[in-house]
Amino acid sequence: MTVPTLTLNDGKTIPQLGFGVFKVDPEETERIVTDALEVGYRHIDTAAVYGNEEGVGRAIAKSGIARDELFVTTKLWNDRHGADESKRALGESLEKLGLDHVDLYLIHWPTPENNNSVETWEAFPSYRDQGLTTSIGVSNFDHRYLPQILDTGIIPAVDQIECHPQFQQIETRPLLTEHDIKVEAWGPLGQGKVDYADTVIGEIASAHGKSWAQTIIRWHLQRGHVVFPKSNNRDRMAQNFDVFDFELTTAEVAAIDGLENGGRVSGDPAEVN
Ligand code: NAD
Repeated sequence: MTVPTLTLNDGKTIPQLGFGVFKVDPEETERIVTDALEVGYRHIDTAAVYGNEEGVGRAIAKSGIARDELFVTTKLWNDRHGADESKRALGESLEKLGLDHVDLYLIHWPTPENNNSVETWEAFPSYRDQGLTTSIGVSNFDHRYLPQILDTGIIPAVDQIECHPQFQQIETRPLLTEHDIKVEAWGPLGQGKVDYADTVIGEIASAHGKSWAQTIIRWHLQRGHVVFPKSNNRDRMAQNFDVFDFELTTAEVAAIDGLENGGRVSGDPAEVN
């Protein structure tokens, strides 16, 4: 199965479906990412703070898959902001991953208390120019924090942000659309904390002979989001990858859109420092 790609505002492409490794135990990461690569995933989303970049790197090296067939993202943690410090942090991530470049490097959180994400962001294009990352972007910059980033004139290729049917980033979306910044939806399944099977999603899933998780992933794809659900379980990895043989109708997409209720399931960027 070839996963569709999206073209970013810097002209580069990204596989629209990937595999996320948040909360994947460093000891288990090599096995789990190996499973994901065998299932067919070619896009892996990690972060320095997940502590599992080494396991991701080992799985990639062992797989024998050509580097240019893989898309790897990592993220700068909150205590490594600043121009010089972020460059050192990126170097450490590359070392752990065993790669000479990532495909996408993100500022993980705006950390408003530290008040230096703009300085950090202004250093990011040089990492791209030096070939340490192909694309650059931000994460968790919502309508409160994205304007300062946009004011620099350096436009992120993506904003990786909490996004699932009951929390669709309604206030941030107009800015993202205006600047052609792709939504990377984290917590795409609501982190398993919302009983989506018991909503209209359950009915739509039954109508297509698919699971609630596959139905939500399909909704993300049709909404144009980049999405990388996480599972330690190989059957679920395969299930989450098996989403290209059905299509939601316009009315079904609209019904899922209607689940928006402002209910985030994880950290508010104003409070993560
Ligand atoms: P998710 O929405 O992908 O939920 C994962 C959980 O959903 C699993 O632990 C499991 O309990 C359940 N699940 C997965 N597949 C299922 C299936 N087929 N059927 C039933 N249940 C299933 O949440 P996530 O892991 O938080 O988000 C995905 C990825 O996004 C992460 O792994 C990470 O790469 C990224 N992320 C980024 C940030 C950020 O701040 N940038 C924050 C959280 C996550």
